[in-house]
Amino acid sequence: MTNFEYIRTASIKGALDAFSRTPNSSFIAGGTNLIDLMKRGVTSPQRLIDINSLPLKSIEANNSGVRIGALAINSEVAIDKNINQNYPLLALALKAGASAQLRNMATVGGNMMQRTRCSYFYDTTFPCNKRQPGTGCSALKGYNRMHAIFGGNEKCIAVHPSDMCVALAALDARIEFSGPDGDRTLPFTDFHRLPGETPERDNNLKKGELIRTIFIPANPFTKNVSYLKIRDRASYAFALVSVAAALDMNGNKIKQARLAMGGVAHKPWRLTEVEKFLAGKEFNSETIRNAGTLAIKGAKGYGFNDFKIKLTSSTVMQALVNAHEGKG
Ligand SMILES: Cc1cc2nc3c(=O)[nH]c(=O)nc-3n(C[C@H](O)[C@H](O)[C@H](O)COP(=O)(O)OP(=O)(O)OC[C@H]3O[C@@H](n4cnc5c(N)ncnc54)[C@H](O)[C@@H]3O)c2cc1C
Ligand code: SF4
Repeated sequence: MTNFEYIRTASIKGALDAFSRTPNSSFIAGGTNLIDLMKRGVTSPQRLIDINSLPLKSIEANNSGVRIGALAINSEVAIDKNINQNYPLLALALKAGASAQLRNMATVGGNMMQRTRCSYFYDTTFPCNKRQPGTGCSALKGYNRMHAIFGGNEKCIAVHPSDMCVALAALDARIEFSGPDGDRTLPFTDFHRLPGETPERDNNLKKGELIRTIFIPANPFTKNVSYLKIRDRASYAFALVSVAAALDMNGNKIKQARLAMGGVAHKPWRLTEVEKFLAGKEFNSETIRNAGTLAIKGAKGYGFNDFKIKLTSSTVMQALVNAHEGKG
């Protein structure tokens, strides 16, 4: 066990100041990922800054959208009346994540920042470029059944494990940050990164910056939505593939669609090309088959995860059918 300092603060300024005094600090929210990483020796912060008393728990809606605090608890967002009425895709994705106990602790900000579940990343006896840059990727020729089929490279083929983030990517959410250099915002789809040359970096959060809120603009996707998660067990398991699908229908014609996938890339994987293809099409079996084929364009398997390519295509097709039927 490596010793660390623990402090609690009730203001954003207090949290940012505490971080700047000890750069090897970590904010801690629900602790459901960070504590595991510390226990396994994957990360060893000198200082834990407990942010749970910060005023960032609210869910505030108006005509232009909904703003969710980074410390809002996953289970509370999932049952919020306004979220279920106006942003049901987010509620469905949250309910598909982890277990009830975990959702009662997990926060929105922590969920975005959770690290990959690649088993070589958690096992410090194996080389891993994400944990220790330059040591190699054990998954590339190892047991890579859960790994990426899009956007990976020889440096890293890990996937981002969140369900919530897949819905937020599909819904054009924006993230609002506070940091040592002031406040800024970023489109949600620009937050998580592909491994590129820096697989150790999961996202574009700057050092010492705090996720403050998520803003989801009002949208017409209130009825025809689906979050379909394919996993090894019915509960308490990460996605092999998940699809967030939202349709805006005019009779049997698709006015517009939103699609994103989880479990397939280092970041939530938005399917903009498929969305463009679907816009203006009649909803019929030919349209759905073509969407399923287009969804796997450029996919690449690494051996044990080859099965995911066909699974991804089928999951996209089924999610679109579920969304059309309003099955959730
Ligand atoms: C057994 C198990 C199964 C799981 N299954 C799923 C699943 O199926 N789907 C799914 O989506 N997730 C799953 N999870 C992951 C779970 O959702 C995350 O652990 C949780 O969302 C993390 O939130 P937290 O508040 O506990 O974060 P913490 O553990 O407190 O923090 C995680 C990271 O976020 C940083 N952080 C937290 N808040 C902020 C902030 N406001 N600004 C900047 N940085 C911040 C921390 O510094 C830390 O680096 C599972 C976890 C476990 C243990
Ligand atoms: S896939 Fe990424 S996280 Fe997993 S071993 Fe390779 S470098 Fe590490």
